[in-house]
Amino acid sequence: MTTSPTLNFDTDWSYAPAPETAPVELADAYGLFINGEFTDAKAGKTFGTVNPATEKRLATVAEAGDADVDAAVTAAQTAYDKVWSKMPAADRGKYLFRIARLIQERAREFAVLESMDGGKPIRESRDVDIPLVAAHFFYYAGWADKLDYAFPGPRKPSPVGVCGQVIPWNFPLLMAAWKLAPALACGNTVVLKPAETTPLTALKLAELLRDAELPPGVVNILPGAGATGAAIVNHPGVKKVAFTGSTDVGKAIARSLAKTDKRFTLELGGKAANLVFADAAIDQAVEGIVNGIFFNQGHVCCAGSRLFVEESIHDELIAKLQDRMKTLIVGDPLDKNTDIGAINSRPQLEKIEHYLKLGQEEGAEMWQPETPVPARGFFCKPTLFLNCAQSSSVVQDEIFGPVLAVQTFRTFGEAMTKANNTPYGLSGGVWTDKGAKVFKATSKVRAGVVWANTFNKFDPSSPFGGYKESGVGREGGLHGLKEYCSLN
Ligand code: NAP
Ligand code: MG
Repeated sequence: MTTSPTLNFDTDWSYAPAPETAPVELADAYGLFINGEFTDAKAGKTFGTVNPATEKRLATVAEAGDADVDAAVTAAQTAYDKVWSKMPAADRGKYLFRIARLIQERAREFAVLESMDGGKPIRESRDVDIPLVAAHFFYYAGWADKLDYAFPGPRKPSPVGVCGQVIPWNFPLLMAAWKLAPALACGNTVVLKPAETTPLTALKLAELLRDAELPPGVVNILPGAGATGAAIVNHPGVKKVAFTGSTDVGKAIARSLAKTDKRFTLELGGKAANLVFADAAIDQAVEGIVNGIFFNQGHVCCAGSRLFVEESIHDELIAKLQDRMKTLIVGDPLDKNTDIGAINSRPQLEKIEHYLKLGQEEGAEMWQPETPVPARGFFCKPTLFLNCAQSSSVVQDEIFGPVLAVQTFRTFGEAMTKANNTPYGLSGGVWTDKGAKVFKATSKVRAGVVWANTFNKFDPSSPFGGYKESGVGREGGLHGLKEYCSLN
């Protein structure tokens, strides 16, 4: 008879530091990627990007101004007219397949760089972000030569022209993939601006596109500030704008585009309701709640940041959730054990800390585990707010951090009313053992995506986008493809 060995979690494997060792080739300075080449900004402006876990500068990056935007749009228009829109669709597809494969080959390096520049745990960039980046290119590569059969109706789709794309810092390379892959599959060319705090993986992607021998000018990557984004959006040569970011900037973009005939899609903020009914599998729900709000430090537009618990299971569920939160490791993003990495920037940390104070002042009860947090860098403990009033700022506002506001409900109707009492409508979650309740709840929660007994699951074939102040249009799947085609 054999006896199984006993594991001592304290001494055998928990908390043993496991830093990532894959090397990353990082230049000291990066230029703008225009017409297939790296170049300095015409005005000579640069900015630094830091590692939020160490506060150390990683690289200096050129900052694109109006003249650079103009040069990039001209390059994109020339590539559109002469090469990309004319190329047989099957050949465009081959380029996209090649890009997808190269991303897979260099996945480890992209993952490490994503975690260094943005602060997300390596486990997430390695297992979620970068595989999804490759998956998006594979998915849309497959559509390139099937567009004529993609949409019902008598007209064949044609590309729209030069697309201006502006992305945020929470999923830097993934947001670039969401935008580039469908645009290119349809025969459009692109000028893309990554976020100021996370430009490096987009610039590495530019190197990869050059290695893939993508024709010059098809993709131009312009790091820079908000003004760079505005210059791209407002350039008369840009025919379609795709923006992901805050609702405030999204509204400003919608206002400035209202007087033009440009097409646009806006993926904006969220404040998702995650609803747990008394008949749910509680342990599974606890995992889903943790994933829903603490994944990527809560820097997730579709994060389950409002938890609604049926009153009869509130105490049991919260006790289990607190026990689980005590096990979460906050620390070095490059450590494979880390659950919660660094907050993306000092201003974002200050914003979160402002809400931690405000939530308490407004009467909600704040709880954090006694988890150690690194002394250097931008870090925030996973946080619960209990006994929240509907009017509390931590319930109403998008915090974009690891902060969960908890409320209770007694009836199905009350749950739906509270869930929908928000200006946002991007995502939601429902936990129940009853299939009928899943269907009823998912049809009543007014949000672009509603997960049932899971959360934060993404797939290139499924459309993503919001209602109300969460945005206009969809990305992903056929819906996302259609935004980049003209059917007139
Ligand atoms: P943000 O401030 O709106 O910035 C997003 C991007 O827009 C950045 O590249 C930014 O450049 C640029 N930008 C800033 N001002 C601009 C302007 N006037 N015109 C054009 N571009 C401008 O948002 P963020 O703080 O980076 O990102 C967080 C927000 O994004 C959250 O609200 C989150 O919910 C939302 N988000 C939504 C989705 C979705 O799919 N719905 C996905 C991810 C994130 P700088 O970096 O230089 O400021
Ligand atoms: Mg950075």
